[in-house]
Amino acid sequence: MHTLTVDLGDRSYPIYIGTGLLDRAELYTPHIKGRQVLIVTNETVAPLYLQRVKTALQQTSGLQVDEVILPDGEAFKNLDTLNLIYDALLEKRHNRTTTLLALGGGVIGDMCGYAAASYQRGVNFIQVPTTLLSQVDSSVGGKTGVNHRLGKNMIGAFHQPQCVLADTETLNTLPERELSAGIAEVIKYGLICDEPFYRWLQDNMAALMARDPRALAYAIERSCQNKAEVVAQDETESGIRATLNLGHTFGHAIESHQGYGQWLHGEAVGAGMLQAADLSWRMGNISAPELEALRALLQQAGLPVTGPADMTVDDYLSRMVVDKKVLDGRIRLVLLQRIGEACITSEVPRELLLQTLQAGNR
Ligand code: NAD
Ligand code: MG
Repeated sequence: MHTLTVDLGDRSYPIYIGTGLLDRAELYTPHIKGRQVLIVTNETVAPLYLQRVKTALQQTSGLQVDEVILPDGEAFKNLDTLNLIYDALLEKRHNRTTTLLALGGGVIGDMCGYAAASYQRGVNFIQVPTTLLSQVDSSVGGKTGVNHRLGKNMIGAFHQPQCVLADTETLNTLPERELSAGIAEVIKYGLICDEPFYRWLQDNMAALMARDPRALAYAIERSCQNKAEVVAQDETESGIRATLNLGHTFGHAIESHQGYGQWLHGEAVGAGMLQAADLSWRMGNISAPELEALRALLQQAGLPVTGPADMTVDDYLSRMVVDKKVLDGRIRLVLLQRIGEACITSEVPRELLLQTLQAGNR
């Protein structure tokens, strides 16, 4: 097992990465302050892993362990589903010292985290991410929330977990498409802040796609390390943390145009990162061979490299303007300064952006 730390002063917390962690009672107990735990999971993950987590927690005598099993899917990441968590907490009389435990992918983590941020003005929570995307991205950094009919992640809070427990064995049951979606965020870290890791990914993508345990563990660790460093520097996204959104402004436009759940988040980010790289190339920041190498890497990872065929430039623009990353109506974009370094700019010539969007469906 490897342990990393997210360094946030008195709210610092460990990330445990390894195999067989779900069963290890001693990893959970130091992070449970009161006598109650509510496990929040969904109907897909519960049959696979719920009993193992419960058994581990029940080794602590006197601990009240409850569960709530939510419907599965991004379409359920909303206030109605969130209410099911509050219902369970109140019906089982959970008090302010309770600990919520998110067992599942990013949808469960974001919803459980927001329930923890808001229940009785804030209680503790533990992240047990079971998708690659949630292990390398959403479980680390404290962003929590739900979608609104009019926008993704529009209702939320910053709320850091007590610990993150990433059991890499859970990835064995993950559908192929979900694995690829997670790899999109892994590639992102290489692109924005870690060129050696990007080169490693170019050499090891086949091993990752074959779920080689050592390659996966290394990629998860390196990704979490990069995310933890960025978050430690800028917890609430007043500056550098925004670079983690490389490809996301384009990607969110794709997701919302298609309706949440049609394209996976990571798939939209994959296509979006290529659009961001295309624009970076048009601005003279990266070379044409570098752009083509990224396209090949995304393809090798099983990710889409074009936007939806029916999506027009206006479809993109109208949706990019509602994105949270837009300041004062100007489109503010995360682009590449070079491979391994991102930059944030609102000075993109409109003509070049239009060219990228026109090229995006081809
Ligand atoms: P997800 O939570 O929908 O999980 C994907 C699918 O895999 C679901 O059907 C899930 O039930 C299933 N699943 C989960 N673990 C499994 C396992 N071990 N075996 C088999 N099936 C399993 O999707 P995701 O990609 O994990 O997360 C996407 C969400 O994360 C989005 O809502 C996105 O907004 C959010 N997100 C949040 C942050 C953040 O900083 N908070 C960052 C990135 C993404
Ligand atoms: Mg993301």
